[in-house]
Amino acid sequence: MTFWLLAVSFALANEPQDLPYYIAPCTKQAMLDSGCFEGDDQLAVYALEAWQRAANGKLKVRRVEDPLSARMQVIWASKFGGQYGEAEPVMISGKPGVRLAIRPVGRNVDDPLLRDVMVYLTVLHEAGHGLGLRHTRNFADIMYSFQYGGDLAEYFQRYRRKLKTRADFAQQSAITEGDLRQLTALLP
Ligand SMILES: [Zn+2]
Repeated sequence: MTFWLLAVSFALANEPQDLPYYIAPCTKQAMLDSGCFEGDDQLAVYALEAWQRAANGKLKVRRVEDPLSARMQVIWASKFGGQYGEAEPVMISGKPGVRLAIRPVGRNVDDPLLRDVMVYLTVLHEAGHGLGLRHTRNFADIMYSFQYGGDLAEYFQRYRRKLKTRADFAQQSAITEGDLRQLTALLP
């Protein structure tokens, strides 16, 4: 799914685009429904901040506590759904926004950091859609679509191999030149 949050929502050409985002808390109920863990919000923060870094000063993401003042909402979706995540256009307080429904999968994975990688890369990919990026056919890209086939396990493992600890999410980018070209084309 592709839409153009950046294109429709921002007007000021010379200032960084402001993107207030909200992350739903992983409550006890959400934990049961979705398999989220406390601390998954930090993975979403890392993902949003990765797009900010990639935008090189043209995008300013800002976490807000009120979902209605956000333009992008991250929620933990039921584990009984099919996909890793979905990005859905929504109206938030009368303005176009996007809701990222993330399924925190990988609870059966032995390696906790790999499980976190799956959540992180899912948020990163869906947030990319929220920003207006389309799927690509290049397996290296975070915006790659598995409709073109490919090794799903390797998609996660290649990023996992870059990490030693959870803090490394803040340093290691999964955004490629190809992803960046798309982002740059959307930014003023
Ligand atoms: Zn996608």
